[in-house]
Amino acid sequence: MNFVTNSLKSICTAFGVHTWEQAYELLCGNRHTLSIQQHRAELLLNRIFFFSSTFAVLTPAWILVDGLIFPWPLWVELAVLRILAGVVFLAIAWQTRRDASLMRARILLITLLFLPYLFYFVADFMLSRYGLTGIQSATADIYRLLPFVIIAGLSLFPLTLIEFGFYALPLLALTLYSVFATNGVEFNTAVSTVWLFLLILGVSLISSLNQLRYMISLTSQAAYDVLTGALTRRAGIEAMELQFRLAKIRGENLAVAFLDLDHFKSLNDTFGHQAGDMALRGVGDRLQETVRKIDTVVRWGGEEFILIFPGASCAEARVVLGRLIQAGLGHRPNGEPLTASIGVAELRLDKIRHWKELLALADSRMYRAKDAGRARCLDSHDHELAWHDQTDWALDTA
Ligand code: GH3
Ligand code: MG
Ligand code: MG
Repeated sequence: MNFVTNSLKSICTAFGVHTWEQAYELLCGNRHTLSIQQHRAELLLNRIFFFSSTFAVLTPAWILVDGLIFPWPLWVELAVLRILAGVVFLAIAWQTRRDASLMRARILLITLLFLPYLFYFVADFMLSRYGLTGIQSATADIYRLLPFVIIAGLSLFPLTLIEFGFYALPLLALTLYSVFATNGVEFNTAVSTVWLFLLILGVSLISSLNQLRYMISLTSQAAYDVLTGALTRRAGIEAMELQFRLAKIRGENLAVAFLDLDHFKSLNDTFGHQAGDMALRGVGDRLQETVRKIDTVVRWGGEEFILIFPGASCAEARVVLGRLIQAGLGHRPNGEPLTASIGVAELRLDKIRHWKELLALADSRMYRAKDAGRARCLDSHDHELAWHDQTDWALDTA
């Protein structure tokens, strides 16, 4: 029993899996964050582009070899097939350059994997009609390696276990069919071919899952700020771009708040940098606790934060900010409340066309809040709330 538990543990460690959550992330993509989904879509599409453009060149180029080795009209039949396949590979490559989404990546990957299989079956049918011998037969055998190349190619894609099964099982079924349904293939040869196929499949699976694991860890490490637990600026820009695009596609609203802590330098100067860090950690916690589950908290700079409210109007964002102001952002070491100046902007009401505009507007309102005396929030309706009239704010938004 101990042996089984230890083996399972070492397998999990090899995959970088230490929690159920991490195991689930490798099983399926349901709980992947938006930034992981976006990175994976981009990575998959880049690799699909590499594969399909390479095949788009190599497949027709092989016509020269076929022409030298195979008899007329076999090599011409193969040439037509190769040119057709080359065109489809080119079309796949072209499609990868468009909008990066996981759905697009999945569809293109299916096409990329099954096209060579189709090519293989048609070519095999063409070759089987000729009694080939010697070098011709040896060249024809190269065609039979194609399924192995495809299954090995899967190792280059960071896939979840379910995705891998979805792609690999039909390929396995096709290989079993082609091996056992082909007349004249000895049973022993068929078994060793399938064995080799399964071996390559296993290695590809390990490589694919490992890539996914590393991709998730790297994305998460780069995405979260260690001190506050908020998204880093880089990940925040991606989240902003994505939410803005989604809001436009779905015809939904989007609100953003820009928050800068007041007189933070003096906190550092008076109580030390460490006290400043503690205060920032507290602010990070308060922000995460107060926003809705679908909202995003970003540490934009030193003591500047951005809150992204998907689907929300200014008024709805105000409800959340009202809660934040009531709960407070913590205290300075001398007991004074820590306050912030906040600017809010909304996609619809402010007639925004680019996410940078949305952010710039929230930023400029934050500066107006600073100029108006700090510890207050300004939004698209020119509503103003100072930190000390929290009750009015709560009543105002009720
Ligand atoms: P204002 O009300 O005008 O915003 O005044 P301020 O003092 O907050 O001015 P400003 O926003 O320009 O100053 C930011 C200060 O935040 C400067 C720096 O000392 C402090 N800060 C930035 N990042 C960190 C950090 O990671 N840790 C600590 N302790 N302090 C930081
Ligand atoms: Mg600042
Ligand atoms: Mg400041």
